[in-house]
Amino acid sequence: MFSTITSAAILGMEVVFVRVEVDIARGLPGFMLVGYLSSEVKEAGERVRVALKNAGITLPPMRITVNLSPANIRKEGTAFDLPIAVGILKALGCIPENSTEGVLAAGELGLDGSVNPIRGVLLLVKKAKEEGLERCLIPAENYGEGRLIEGVEVIGVRGLAETIDYLKDGKKTVFSGREARDKEEPDREMPDFSEIKGQTAAKRAAEIAAAGFHNLLLIGSPGSGKTMIAKRIPGILPPMTEEESLEVSSVYSLAGRFRDKDAFMKQRPFMDPHHTITAQALMGGGKTVRPGLLSLAHKGILFLDELPEFKTDIINMLRQPLEEKKIHIVRLGGNYVFPADCMFVGAMNPCPCGYYPDMARCSCTLQKVKRYQGHISGPVMDRIDLCAGVARVTAEQLLQENREESSSCIRKRVIRAREMQEERYKDESYLFNALMPQPDLKKYCYLGKKEENLMDKAFRTLQLSARSYFRILKTARTIADLDGCGRVKGMHIEEALEYRMGGEKYWEI
Ligand SMILES: [Zn+2]
Repeated sequence: MFSTITSAAILGMEVVFVRVEVDIARGLPGFMLVGYLSSEVKEAGERVRVALKNAGITLPPMRITVNLSPANIRKEGTAFDLPIAVGILKALGCIPENSTEGVLAAGELGLDGSVNPIRGVLLLVKKAKEEGLERCLIPAENYGEGRLIEGVEVIGVRGLAETIDYLKDGKKTVFSGREARDKEEPDREMPDFSEIKGQTAAKRAAEIAAAGFHNLLLIGSPGSGKTMIAKRIPGILPPMTEEESLEVSSVYSLAGRFRDKDAFMKQRPFMDPHHTITAQALMGGGKTVRPGLLSLAHKGILFLDELPEFKTDIINMLRQPLEEKKIHIVRLGGNYVFPADCMFVGAMNPCPCGYYPDMARCSCTLQKVKRYQGHISGPVMDRIDLCAGVARVTAEQLLQENREESSSCIRKRVIRAREMQEERYKDESYLFNALMPQPDLKKYCYLGKKEENLMDKAFRTLQLSARSYFRILKTARTIADLDGCGRVKGMHIEEALEYRMGGEKYWEI
């Protein structure tokens, strides 16, 4: 007695079909599982046997062999429980031979015969559709998520008994359907820039960063509003495209953190890990490899508050993914790639007490200030295009009746500037100014004689490194785009220079 059924393994963000083969033969009774399995998959045998028993199916005293093929792919997680159980039912003749044709099955079993939720259902159903399968048999709890993909019939099952009924008599479960859900993620209340009084320079820096996809550092004393500004940046970024929304939703599905089970994610993520975060939580990994917070910030913002408090090796780890926009995790079972295309926003105090350069309040020695700032210099500063000082708002400013500009106004300008970039870079591999490689600067940041002189002067007087020279030009390009200007002009360069060090006054190094 032999049977097969289709399931799938997830490697990073990639889905590979796995054929579950079951053979039941005479011989010494036993249950054997083979096919390059992790320990959770090896334990599936016991879970499946007890779950079947509690669903009313007692296994005959025969030799059961289950093979998960292809054998060169490591299988992890508990999602193979359900296909293994269904394969056994089929081999025993409890369900018809053709009942699993064109079906992809995945789900974890509880000992009582219940089917428990799994991670990454969105990816599985998407793959099933791409490969032309007709139906997906998944846990009922993942039903809303699976049904977001159009064109595949999704069957959500709560337990093995229900699964048998469905496969045997075609009895529809409560959770089955073909048409995709059209429900939009409910609008969550987003903080708005109009709530922040003053802070013109920092707001402008946030706008430029959002428009050109630049990394941003906010520097200022405690309570000056750095976090408030950072939290409002997702609200001025353009809405996600459908493709972006699917990508982000897939990462969340894989991490088991899908926000609204009935809708694709529409709002850009904002991730603000605490400085005690571990490398694994940030970058991803674990026994069963999962995406980390950096990937959960994909297409949104990764915000590191109190940047110098983070361990140096954590900060250094960010270098490569910030550049490549993806994370590679190398494991015995294979190489995993997770997306990490996010905007980096950091915030820091200028010194340990937070009040430098206000010498009346700062209690730190100059040496201490230097050491504190030196912690983030070099590798990270090399990747930051804009640095903005956030000054404490005075009582006068707070009392002013000025209407502050709303996020939606700023967002309109950001969208316009982004459209200009998309048009300009339509034949390139990148879309935004911040991602422009150095050799292309001549082509897209053409400078006239006057502008070139200005840059030369800045280069000499400010003793710029080659890297920061190019960063300033790229930022100037974004400022020109916000201005609707095809050419980078002197005033754009001058403004970009202002954000080089966020007002030199904070820096001791
Ligand atoms: Zn201080």
